Amino acid sequence: MVDSHCHLYDDKIVDRCQDIISNFQNDNIDYVIIPSCDYDSEQKALNLAKRYDKVYCALAVHPHDAKNYDALCEKFVLDNYSNAKVVALGEFGFDYFYNLSPYQKQFEVAERQMVLCNECDLPAIFHIRDGLANETEHFDAYKDFFSLANRYSLKRSGVLHCFGGDKDKARKALDLGFYISFTCNVTYKSNEHLREALKYIPMDRLLIETDSPYMSPRHQRNLPNEPKNVKYVAECMSEIKNIDIENVYNITKENTEKLFYKI
Ligand SMILES: [Zn+2]
Ligand SMILES: [Zn+2]
Repeated sequence: MVDSHCHLYDDKIVDRCQDIISNFQNDNIDYVIIPSCDYDSEQKALNLAKRYDKVYCALAVHPHDAKNYDALCEKFVLDNYSNAKVVALGEFGFDYFYNLSPYQKQFEVAERQMVLCNECDLPAIFHIRDGLANETEHFDAYKDFFSLANRYSLKRSGVLHCFGGDKDKARKALDLGFYISFTCNVTYKSNEHLREALKYIPMDRLLIETDSPYMSPRHQRNLPNEPKNVKYVAECMSEIKNIDIENVYNITKENTEKLFYKI
């Protein structure tokens, strides 16, 4: 099985990073993809990908850090995108929940990175999180994402990681040709709308991930998440889609390799 999105350089798990990677075989993990969030993590993600066979990476600036996007971040992407282990640009997009960067800046930086995806001939990993409804003028991150995605057609498509939308948003993403990735939060009791969306999305457009160290499984919410827990996402998918778990592993792996074509 594949964990298509985990931050192994994160402070919460970095001291166990080497052990986690050496256990991949025992844990039935074929490989993982490590996205980055800022200039610092772009370097960390690429270093891990260069060091370990079963690690790939993606480069980009997260909406939280859009305010710090500069020529240096962009130069790093342009200098390294052709490395065989760099399989996407990500994660980037819109986060109106924390609003750590001003709305205008998030839009501008997301737009710029859409352009870069086509320049680098790579797919995108999107981070999209709504704000609390009606609290600010811009709370509907998916609306802004779809308006941007409608204007730029991505040559190599992309994935909406840690999907947090409903069936309607899933349909819009599918219409644009995107893949949709679920984390362990699909197992949380309160997230019935995610399971509804999952039921609706065809198997050939689904990816699985942990977003480690975040989004820990329901029964381990106080522990940092790690790639081996991607099995809980697969389990949930297997139940909802009523297909064998081995099939879930295989199909989501195939989907990962269709999207991230350099793997
Ligand atoms: Zn994210
Ligand atoms: Zn992430």
